[in-house]
Amino acid sequence: MKQIGLYLHLPFCMQKCRYCDFSSWAGREDLKTPYINALMSELETYRGENIAVNTIFLGGGTPTLFDGETLVQLLDKCREIFDISRDAEISIECNPGTADRKKLEILFKGGFNRLSIGLQAWQEHHLKQLGRIHNSRQFRETVDWAKEAGFINISADVIFGLPGQTWEEWKETLEKAVSTGINHLSAYSLIIEEGTVFYEWMKQGKIRQMDDERERSLYHRGVALLESLGFMQYEISNFAKPGWECRHNLNYWRNGEYLGCGCSAHSFFRSVRRANAAGIEQYIERIQSGKPAVDYSEEIDMETEVVETLMLGFRLNEGINKKAFQNRFGFSLHERYGDPIMELKNQGLLTEDEEAVRPTPLGFDFQNRIAVAFF
Ligand code: SF4
Repeated sequence: MKQIGLYLHLPFCMQKCRYCDFSSWAGREDLKTPYINALMSELETYRGENIAVNTIFLGGGTPTLFDGETLVQLLDKCREIFDISRDAEISIECNPGTADRKKLEILFKGGFNRLSIGLQAWQEHHLKQLGRIHNSRQFRETVDWAKEAGFINISADVIFGLPGQTWEEWKETLEKAVSTGINHLSAYSLIIEEGTVFYEWMKQGKIRQMDDERERSLYHRGVALLESLGFMQYEISNFAKPGWECRHNLNYWRNGEYLGCGCSAHSFFRSVRRANAAGIEQYIERIQSGKPAVDYSEEIDMETEVVETLMLGFRLNEGINKKAFQNRFGFSLHERYGDPIMELKNQGLLTEDEEAVRPTPLGFDFQNRIAVAFF
């Protein structure tokens, strides 16, 4: 049976980080209980459909702002409704300062087996400027507690290209994060988005976006450092010790099917792409009044699915597997895209062997050039 990914969005945060444009809110504790009830009701809409799931991801926001028992109840509800595989990867996002030893024990005993912890930077002054609620000591403590609770699969999120960030600082963040014994790391470049405090600060001249050359240099040196520490790059921004790649996110990049529940969650299921109502209150109101949570949906025809599969697949080191592509779409990659593949190989952006067409390190840097060639 085909297996899909399941994402649950928990949009509450202790305070809003200054760079964050995710769907997350601080100071809305009053909505936590009605939100969980709404989420449970949305999950109920899939009862009886016999949908097989092999990865679950509780993301946010800060899911660990909820108590451990509530999070386990949510997972139990998923187990009641979906056919969850025995070896399912079940991840939860966590921020240091919101999960103590006891909560992590409850989560592990309740069935969560992967923890994704937001670190972002090792240095106090960067954490403060970002508006994070924790310091690096609390990150280390969270990893230790998680390991004691039984978690083996632990990931950290970090950011580079911070205002004024030096190579020494970035190097320290990566080395110190790895030294805690995690086996996966996501490293994203800071993009200053409209609507954030950082955007206002940039307009006022208080901070500046790092120039491309320095930002690329931090990226490339970071990739080399992580590889020397045994963390292999498997996606533009993701690194893991062999065998510890995030299966839930791999499914997104392979353009596999997934369901998203909660406000602003997206789904791609049975050739339809959907997005739920974006705001917490709007989402709760929809569910309470018996309306569907979805406020946007689009049928994805095969042509669109092909292009999306290519765009997502070239974010991955593994690239596009030629046999899997042919089996999925009924024609070969070369039959349709022989010319752009040749052109991109000549430009040094793609490489090819018997099995797959893959991006080169240069291809990771110039994703837009790959996209243009296929469109
Ligand atoms: S903790 Fe994460 S989701 Fe919440 S405000 Fe900070 S960056 Fe955004």
